[in-house]
Amino acid sequence: MGLSKLDNLYRQVILEHATHPHHHGSLVKGQKLIELRNPTCGDVLKVELIMSDNKVQDVAFSGTGCTISQASASMMTDEIIGKSKKEIEEMVTTFSKMVTGETIDENLLGDAAILEGVAQFPARIKCATLAWKAVYQVINLEN
Ligand code: ZN
Repeated sequence: MGLSKLDNLYRQVILEHATHPHHHGSLVKGQKLIELRNPTCGDVLKVELIMSDNKVQDVAFSGTGCTISQASASMMTDEIIGKSKKEIEEMVTTFSKMVTGETIDENLLGDAAILEGVAQFPARIKCATLAWKAVYQVINLEN
């Protein structure tokens, strides 16, 4: 895969997230969870989340997949803690626009804006968006 085309610094950050993912594992209790698959690549991702007072209190993810899917999940978990459902929905929409090449406000995505380069690799878009689709579905689950 052509990760080499990405800027070196960005590639290092992506590899760092994939190798040492943040919020990786499981939450002990009180969580909503969902598992999504990306059959075109074989990525499997479980996202668990605890909301209270309309804010994300804690989040964790587990699963297996390619570098891009794991890095994206790690970045997503960093960015959504403390955010409301509405804010997260806006971030998911923004992320999806970014990886399909639309111009976005990068400030909305924090470090996850680094994945902008994925837009150059159409086969990897589903890898990058998997975690964001998962969190969107989790926050919209009925209690
Ligand atoms: Zn993948």
